[in-house]
Amino acid sequence: MEAVREAIGQEVLAARLAEHSAKGTLAHAMLFTGPPGRGGLALALNLARRLHCTDRASSEPCGACPSCQQHDQLQHPDLHFTFPVVKPAGKDKALSADQLGTWRSLLREVGPHFDMEDLRDRMAVGNKQPFISVHEAADILRRLSLTAHAGGWKVQIIWGAQWMRTDTANKLLKVIEEPPQKTVFILLADSTENLLATILSRTQIIPIPPVQEEQLGAWLRGLGAADEQVSDAVSLSEGDLARARRLLREDTAGEFAMFVEWMRTAFARDGRKASNLADNFHDLGREQQKQFLSYALHMARQCIVGNYGAAGAVRLRASERGFAEKFSPYIHHGNIVDMQEELEKASRDVAGNVYGRTVFLDLSMRMMELLHRPR
Ligand SMILES: [Zn+2]
Repeated sequence: MEAVREAIGQEVLAARLAEHSAKGTLAHAMLFTGPPGRGGLALALNLARRLHCTDRASSEPCGACPSCQQHDQLQHPDLHFTFPVVKPAGKDKALSADQLGTWRSLLREVGPHFDMEDLRDRMAVGNKQPFISVHEAADILRRLSLTAHAGGWKVQIIWGAQWMRTDTANKLLKVIEEPPQKTVFILLADSTENLLATILSRTQIIPIPPVQEEQLGAWLRGLGAADEQVSDAVSLSEGDLARARRLLREDTAGEFAMFVEWMRTAFARDGRKASNLADNFHDLGREQQKQFLSYALHMARQCIVGNYGAAGAVRLRASERGFAEKFSPYIHHGNIVDMQEELEKASRDVAGNVYGRTVFLDLSMRMMELLHRPR
């Protein structure tokens, strides 16, 4: 596994941040935007380590001083982590501090390129939506009002900043605008979309670009992926290491086979076969039914992308491309909108506990009609 601080494929940005920290021109509040799998957290950790290293002679963090060693353990007393959590059973506040052990173990075992899906799995939150509470904001204010342990920089990382509640963000406005001396805020969010304008105006926004294909491929090979897996994951993940790693684990062969059979059946208007397939669908269980429907939606969309000339933008595995080429002429502007709606409705029905067999049979009947619609 890579060192926790290694920002794979973000060397240019890492160098720029290092330069600012050396010159003393670092903004006191930064917002890194982009999916977490692009490496924002790695850059933030890298920067914190740099600020904390006590060996001023070297331009790179020395790796040997007590601060660097504390960073290796993710235990530096002036490095603070905030991230979305759910309220633990029996507690009245949702605080990152209660989940710090889980957070550190994820970082240690997986490295810094994880995303919300990975964190949710690790925290075992089930269907609950983690968030950053106003109590967490109070905790941040308290922490930052204390003197730095080592007398140097205090670094507050807020990962998943888009999950701050409005009252949380409001409570932090003032400290983000005027942090205590030698304090750096590093906020990380997927995009600027779900953040208050008042937060955006108080931070320096630094977009994190996608990781280049070549570096992404090398990283995946380093994880032990085979060539075909690597090329699929590179073409599907859009420069996002967390997604790429997940793609290595995902096996969509079963879904693909079922999708092909289903579309052939619908095209042939074979009611008896559709009824058999509805039984198979029913037996999958609710979670897998939802997964299959989202896979079908993805396939339909990719056919449309390929159909209208953007071959380079098609996100399909090598094994799926042959079928998609033959099938895509039947997906067009005349039916795609309705098709998407039907698939989304089916997914909502499944989530709402409608009988799986019924959902799938209704959907198949609609598909029979849609696939034969004129362009
Ligand atoms: Zn050091």
